Amino acid sequence: MPAMFVGHGNPMNTIVDSTYRRTWQALGKSLPRPAATLCISAHWETDGCYVSGSQAPDTIHDFYGFPQALFDVSYPAPGSPGLAQRVHDALPDVLIDAQRGLDHGVWSVLLPMFPDADIPVVQLSLDRSKPAEFHYAMGRRLAFLRRCGILIVASGNIVHSLRDVVWQEAARYDWAIEFDERIRDLIVTGNQDAIIHYEKLGEAARRSVPTNEHFLPLLYILGMQQPEERLSFFNDSVSMGSLSMRSLLLSGAGEDGLFSQQM
Ligand code: ZN
Repeated sequence: MPAMFVGHGNPMNTIVDSTYRRTWQALGKSLPRPAATLCISAHWETDGCYVSGSQAPDTIHDFYGFPQALFDVSYPAPGSPGLAQRVHDALPDVLIDAQRGLDHGVWSVLLPMFPDADIPVVQLSLDRSKPAEFHYAMGRRLAFLRRCGILIVASGNIVHSLRDVVWQEAARYDWAIEFDERIRDLIVTGNQDAIIHYEKLGEAARRSVPTNEHFLPLLYILGMQQPEERLSFFNDSVSMGSLSMRSLLLSGAGEDGLFSQQM
């Protein structure tokens, strides 16, 4: 199966038409139908690592100050206790949380992609006690799921500084563009070590990643990239000054150029 890192940005992207949402909608139509999705979101941080094992996960509205219409959104996709168990069996240090629902890092991108909400969704937490290397290694450990028809969706933002956000879609800071493009170049050249140690990339990195929860999901996808696997970018722009929407698709075996050829 393909695997992807998705820049989710402003949750309003889910209910308001934008180029980002249109891309998510087109992507959902072009992907092979997965047996289930495993999502890693910036918005579920825990001590220790957990996988959601609920049969019917709730839609969590984990934000403030947005219109009621966003709080009214529901994403009633089923969970998959079986997939959660499979993850736990393969990675025994990942424990099952039978109560956890889906946060907006997950449903804000899955709703436009798979609006029928009929593909089971399981979420994996970010262990906040672990260094970046751990998260990259988790990507490697989870890669086997792609061979079992599981779509991996990691959701965050390469540049994410809420204190610098400006409520103008086209605004963008020079340091945000610099860091976004630096990470792009490192992805293209396969310099994953420099991405894992992004904090060494200077002032632009410091401003772009004030806290790392939105950056870490990218490492899961880089960790599961296969040798010679085709990758492509989508939604590759900076939004609202300090949110990079740049997203990355690994095409998977037999799906060479799947998305970039269709868009
Ligand atoms: Zn977020």
